[in-house]
Amino acid sequence: MPEFVKLVDVTKCTGCRACMVACKNWNDLPAERQEFQGSIQSHKKTTAHTWNVVTYTEYEQEDGSLDWLFRHSACLHCKEAACVKVCPENAIGYTKFGSVVIDSEKCIGCGYCVNNCPFKVVELAEYKDEQNDKTYYKAQKCTLCTNRLEKNMQPACAVTCPTDAIVFGEQEAMLKQAEARLAEIKPLYPNANIYNPPGVGGTHAVYVLPEKPSVFGLPEDPRVPLSATIWKDYAQPIGKALFGVTTMAVIGAFISNSLFRRHENLEQVENEGGSEQ
Ligand code: SF4
Ligand code: SF4
Repeated sequence: MPEFVKLVDVTKCTGCRACMVACKNWNDLPAERQEFQGSIQSHKKTTAHTWNVVTYTEYEQEDGSLDWLFRHSACLHCKEAACVKVCPENAIGYTKFGSVVIDSEKCIGCGYCVNNCPFKVVELAEYKDEQNDKTYYKAQKCTLCTNRLEKNMQPACAVTCPTDAIVFGEQEAMLKQAEARLAEIKPLYPNANIYNPPGVGGTHAVYVLPEKPSVFGLPEDPRVPLSATIWKDYAQPIGKALFGVTTMAVIGAFISNSLFRRHENLEQVENEGGSEQ
């Protein structure tokens, strides 16, 4: 089975948001009322019920002229995914297509994946158990339309995009297409690059960007946090044996939240003036 890649060429995106609508439609996701973001961007970032968001960035070129930059942002389906690494219930896994999916039955809503995703694209959805009046949570994000892939259909965003800013196909072909497009746009955009970050093993959503990643709200060198590796490979197996699953989930949430907040603060300082995803 070949691996698949969603190729997002942001230079072709017109910001029409058809990909957002197609995603909502196929996945039966509810509309969400949003505060005004100060621009025509609809949501600040992806949410548990909005799995892809088109970001709008006003960018000042060196000559002082302004550009509107658009980016279809969603889960990148990392090959070495931090969310998979940190999940204490093994509720997140890889499919034969290369997509990263969450098994809601197994998810306990601890939020480790939310706190450790380098792209901040996974969130917790809140549900109510009417029978015993209890609230519970499940992590939610883009599935790369795995249920469509199983039926030999392409992701809803890719088939809907009217400008072919999103295309989908076998990894090798998509990477070749990305290289060809990069060569084409380089004379116009000297900072153009292909975003397929090695720090997360590469991704199954690859971008062609005309400017450096941070201009589009993407981390320049995302990595699986070291704390996640230590937690998953060493602390958790020992802790589960000694204290049980629930206690380790509580300890893990505390550690994960503390590290994440510190990481966010550092990133904010480093990227001061950068755009929001
Ligand atoms: S982008 Fe985040 S949620 Fe998606 S696979 Fe990577 S770590 Fe997991
Ligand atoms: S459908 Fe295509 S052109 Fe429209 S916002 Fe999405 S990526 Fe951009």
